[in-house]
Amino acid sequence: MQRILEPGQIESLDRTSIPRLRMPQRAEVFSARAARLRQLADGHPLGDYLRLMAALVDAQQHVLDNFQAERPSPESIEQAQQHCMPLVPASGGYDAGRWQPLLVPLLDAVAAQPALPAAVKGVIERVRAADPAALEAGAQALLAGHGKGVDAASAPFLMAALQVLWTGVASTFEAGEVPMLDVPNVCPVCGTLPVASVVRIGGAHEGYRYLCCGLCATEWHMVRVKCTHCEASEHVAYHVVDTAGAGTDAALASEAESAVADGGILKGPDGRPKLDEASKRVASSPIRAESCDDCHSYRKIFYQDKDPFVEPVADDLASLALDVLMGEAGYARANGNPLLWQNAEDA
Ligand SMILES: [Zn+2]
Ligand SMILES: [Zn+2]
Repeated sequence: MQRILEPGQIESLDRTSIPRLRMPQRAEVFSARAARLRQLADGHPLGDYLRLMAALVDAQQHVLDNFQAERPSPESIEQAQQHCMPLVPASGGYDAGRWQPLLVPLLDAVAAQPALPAAVKGVIERVRAADPAALEAGAQALLAGHGKGVDAASAPFLMAALQVLWTGVASTFEAGEVPMLDVPNVCPVCGTLPVASVVRIGGAHEGYRYLCCGLCATEWHMVRVKCTHCEASEHVAYHVVDTAGAGTDAALASEAESAVADGGILKGPDGRPKLDEASKRVASSPIRAESCDDCHSYRKIFYQDKDPFVEPVADDLASLALDVLMGEAGYARANGNPLLWQNAEDA
């Protein structure tokens, strides 16, 4: 007898193929980030900075809306595909002559904000007056991920222009054009380290974890409960800021993650249900640090089922308290945030 599948069953069969990529949605990538920054700014100790960045990110959306990115040559795309290399590598010179014109309208938009602090006006004027060659050197330092030689206050503005350029070109690609890299923890479009990862909800992406590029906003799939830095999975754990804000609540990976995946109960190392308050808080938090005791680093992971509006760059920036506590616990951050350059030089 022939069985006919119910629609729900057909969908569940479909889920066996995991979408490898979430390409940036150019119509909303920055406006969604700006909205999230404003939402997080309310009552936040860094509220003024988050609102300033929201104004910059809004300007990015406006500039992107009016910008048509030029794709690399078909030969260059084909070569990247054949050799499993990023399509438009951040270190490959794609920015030359292209990014500085995008910087000016960003500076104009932020400068036009009402009640702009004098210090911010000063930064904008300094960037405007900078020698193009110095800006170019700064851009290379930011694209390389270290920001050396760029003052910390100017860096987010330069980075914002680079993000518009790379997000613009990334959004011209279909997922099928993007090669699968041998290295699973760098962006397959631009080769940049991810800013954070997000467990997505909705449609074909439901329940899957994606690493999020801080430069071009491409997201690529990586299985859960795996270190996104060294790929080990044996000693992964999850941390959240504890209720007193004085330390972190931590839960071991298999417990917290499998419990979340099953919608079930946390289990202790002995396999028995573990119901302590700390583990429950970890399991219910949308923002966690995923640490690895093999490489002693961490990267944040956000859970859209716990908060549908999580946005990798904005939520990473607004959860600095977790970074402080992870640093105190002896873990190193695996990457920077494009809107905050702590390692850049003071002006
Ligand atoms: Zn990228
Ligand atoms: Zn690791």
